[in-house]
Amino acid sequence: MCRHLGWLGRPRSLASLVLEPPSSLLVQSWAPRRQRYGTVNADGWGVGFFTPGRPGPARWRSARPLWAEPSFASVAPVLASGCVVAAVRSATVGMPLEESAAAPFTDGRWLLSHNGRVERGALPPVRDAESTVDSALLAALVFDRGLDALGATVREVAAADPAARLNLLAADGTRLLATTWGDTLSALVTAEGTALASEPWDDDPAWADLPDRSLVEVTPDGLTVTALTS
Ligand code: GLN
Repeated sequence: MCRHLGWLGRPRSLASLVLEPPSSLLVQSWAPRRQRYGTVNADGWGVGFFTPGRPGPARWRSARPLWAEPSFASVAPVLASGCVVAAVRSATVGMPLEESAAAPFTDGRWLLSHNGRVERGALPPVRDAESTVDSALLAALVFDRGLDALGATVREVAAADPAARLNLLAADGTRLLATTWGDTLSALVTAEGTALASEPWDDDPAWADLPDRSLVEVTPDGLTVTALTS
């Protein structure tokens, strides 16, 4: 199970989101605190973010561990964004080890990360997947169906593969959308913006654990959580 995070709010540096907190994604890449599946997240990482005046997201991914990326560590303090999706990867057994298998995936408009696993044969055929990894096929399906159908798509996939774990996190520059289906997700709502993360990046008591089987939406107006029933 990988770890992911999203941010919607005032622009902040990628370093402040991904590298600097005491239990940042960087630290979670070797010492996650709440991970139930897998022990380290050393099979790649990715950060996607939106910037004013550019219609689609910018994205930086790698198949290396996040701790082995001094160039990213050098640049991350001066890259800032108000809408970010980032992830570190622990590859599911049998899945390809390559940059294009690391989240976030994109259709040029949305960013999408997947924590979990799904039987690839249980998914309907998709076009334009970025990799043969289960998460890329799932991302292509979600993009195809449309993000407004995210909850329905997760329920459909879970019905086809009852053992699937389907924690998804998506962003389009104006909102974050997430699902919890089989793993953890926490939220931190502040005056500066809202973070969603597989696990809290620090011990701030304001972090709230979100219930499993939920659809989560973050807009500039706040956070809403809706039950997803199968
Ligand atoms: N199944 C996906 C992969 O292999 C995601 C794995 C995970 O969440 N650890 O990359």
